[in-house]
Amino acid sequence: MRFVMYLIAPIMLLGCNDTDEISDVDDTLSKQEMEDLQFLKEEEKLARDVYLFSYDLYGQKIFSNISNSEQSHMNSVLVIMEKYGIADLSLTERGKFSNGILQDLYTDLVNIASRSIEEALYVGATIEDLDINDLNTFIKNTNHLDVEVMFNKLNCGSRNHLRAYTNNLQRLDMSYEPQFISEEEYNTILNSSGEKCNN
Ligand code: ZN
Ligand code: ZN
Repeated sequence: MRFVMYLIAPIMLLGCNDTDEISDVDDTLSKQEMEDLQFLKEEEKLARDVYLFSYDLYGQKIFSNISNSEQSHMNSVLVIMEKYGIADLSLTERGKFSNGILQDLYTDLVNIASRSIEEALYVGATIEDLDINDLNTFIKNTNHLDVEVMFNKLNCGSRNHLRAYTNNLQRLDMSYEPQFISEEEYNTILNSSGEKCNN
């Protein structure tokens, strides 16, 4: 699965900016916060669309259940974007993205997922691993409590999804190696039980 890591590596560069200076509580988001939200909206769509692709191919309930959850994550991001008047750049068509990196990533991930159910589950775990890692960065980048609460809710959902994909892989005698979050964070998540995430 090393090729997955290679394909996704450039995306990690997006999340490396330092937090902007601490601002007073106000209605203005920093440029970084805006970019994070616009990226996240499409990142949640990428998860949803890849899982829908896998569901169409394999008919396994896990993919439709989690894709529904990703739709609710997209809605949660949109609520915050509308509150702060941030343009939603995401496209409505399935499998289409305005961000070129996410477009390429989608193409690569569905190609891998199309090979077997095992690879599709591994792709699922990879997406959740990436999401958690990006959300950890976005949480550090924001000074707004309502934004942070939403990020935490999505992170909670992603941890449940990562556990679900890992458990399904284990039933097929496969294991997942984290590619973005640390081994330590991954093990902590695996050793925790399912969480209620308020959505
Ligand atoms: Zn999500
Ligand atoms: Zn997820």
